[in-house]
Amino acid sequence: MAEISGARILARNLEQQGVEYVFGIVGFPVVPVAYALQKEGITFIGMRNEQSASYAAQAAGYLTGRPQGCLVVSGPGVIHALAGLANAKENLWPMILIGGASPTDQNGMGAFQEEDQVAAAKMWCKYAHRVESHDRIPYYVEQAIRTSLFGRPGPVYLDMPADIIDGRVDEETIGTAPTVGEPPRTHAEPDSVRKAIAALKGAEKPLAIVGKGMAWSRAEDEVRQFIDRTQVPFLASPMGKGVVPDDHPLSVGAARSHALQEADVILLAGARLNWIMHFGAKPRFNPNVKVLQLDSYPEQIGHNVPAEVALVGDGKAIMGQLNAELADDPWRYEAETAWRTSIAEKIAANEEAVAGMKADESAPMNYYRAFRDIADWLKPDDLIVGEGANTMDIGRTQMPNIEPRHRLDAGSYGTMGIGLGFAVAAAVCNPGKRVVSVQGDSAFGFSGMEMETICRHQLPVIVVILNNNGIGGGVAELPEDGPPPPSVYLPTARYEKIAEAFGAGSFHVEDPADLRAALDNAAALEGPAIVHVRLDPKAGRKPQVHGWLTR
Ligand code: ADP
Ligand code: MG
Repeated sequence: MAEISGARILARNLEQQGVEYVFGIVGFPVVPVAYALQKEGITFIGMRNEQSASYAAQAAGYLTGRPQGCLVVSGPGVIHALAGLANAKENLWPMILIGGASPTDQNGMGAFQEEDQVAAAKMWCKYAHRVESHDRIPYYVEQAIRTSLFGRPGPVYLDMPADIIDGRVDEETIGTAPTVGEPPRTHAEPDSVRKAIAALKGAEKPLAIVGKGMAWSRAEDEVRQFIDRTQVPFLASPMGKGVVPDDHPLSVGAARSHALQEADVILLAGARLNWIMHFGAKPRFNPNVKVLQLDSYPEQIGHNVPAEVALVGDGKAIMGQLNAELADDPWRYEAETAWRTSIAEKIAANEEAVAGMKADESAPMNYYRAFRDIADWLKPDDLIVGEGANTMDIGRTQMPNIEPRHRLDAGSYGTMGIGLGFAVAAAVCNPGKRVVSVQGDSAFGFSGMEMETICRHQLPVIVVILNNNGIGGGVAELPEDGPPPPSVYLPTARYEKIAEAFGAGSFHVEDPADLRAALDNAAALEGPAIVHVRLDPKAGRKPQVHGWLTR
């Protein structure tokens, strides 16, 4: 009779269900799980904080299209990882969190790190369950993976008590569960496809908004074809960037506010009209805008703005339907319209507005000057991670994305602290590619110790820290009398020295004239590095035309 442990059964089933990467921190009682994962050929990345590990797992899920794992210890380990569950729930990204739990025969006794982890996880999970026997492991893993992936993707949780992890049973008593396949790609009602095209044909100022739902559904070929076919201008959401390349002539990214405010018909494809899109409300949007809403999640239809046409189903499938309809009955938005002209003028005016800051060679430098060199230096297939208030917002406009799923940022939940966890996942899931994580100093602080993880695994991650000394800007020196202001950090901080501690490249830039060389030298190492860039603590965004634009 061959015996098998719960840890091994779990690892086998995760592997069977397509889990390739697990990020986590070991300790009681999950050490055997991590070893079992490695035995099954799953890559285990040991990290330094469970928050980062749970962020890494969901980014890996988004990038690979399958739920990836996070493994944590009982009690505090699970609690730290809740941050990732909440972020994954908001971003609609799949992941499976596996928490060790105190032994079942100590339930309620005040066991070491005892916690009602299933209840804690439930608030953010689509599915959360305790594994109470060895023979149920295949069933629970299948349920969890399928629930995470199908419908609207999201996080799931499995609770693994110590006695299940360590306990051994006769291998023959353990059955298998079916392997979860690709989620079904449902099509929209043919009538709604015709109605959507008819509405676009009647538009004076059409606009397509391309969100990360389209990136998730791998709809880039179909969306690119649709834009090229119809010549409708498009706006990418922050992580929808790259589904259609940012350098496409129909991108209105540099005239975002104008395009949103004026458009009369919007094809809203895999994006939500939440805070990122200003709820679709005036004065940001035309109050009479007709929304043609493409979403896989029926409950999303009409959220904040009633939909003129509902295209319910999978993004790739429906964009294919729209293209097929257009192939039968070709239509393209006119080449010369007042709408196109106004967008072009706005783009030119916005570029003009930042040209002075881009050319400003004074030290310490401003954001736009820093991004001028960074954008120039980036390679088209770099994975870009962006985090921090100004660093992320300005970086989004200044760093182009050419490929889909090559940008990760604070996302729908606006989470600070995702940076290095996401960078680890981006590097692990894309062997051979370079990851560039451009972070503010405050953002970097949340997960800076993951630099050790990056160095231990020799991941090609270049962290560029744009240091304005604090949250939304700081001071050049701490006040001599009185406590440091709440939003300010140590003005003399030299974050690049953290890289030195782990043998990575370490560069410090004060003068804008030295920035490009520092970036090139970091790149030449072909390994991890930090480029620390001292900014003017008062540097900010370009002045906005309306006060409400910065709200
Ligand atoms: P963004 O931040 O880019 O606006 P959101 O995450 O807010 O993106 O919205 C993405 C939308 O895409 C969600 O409403 C989600 O239901 C939808 N979605 C997710 N997967 C698919 C898919 N395969 N096909 C179509 N829509 C999808
Ligand atoms: Mg800062």
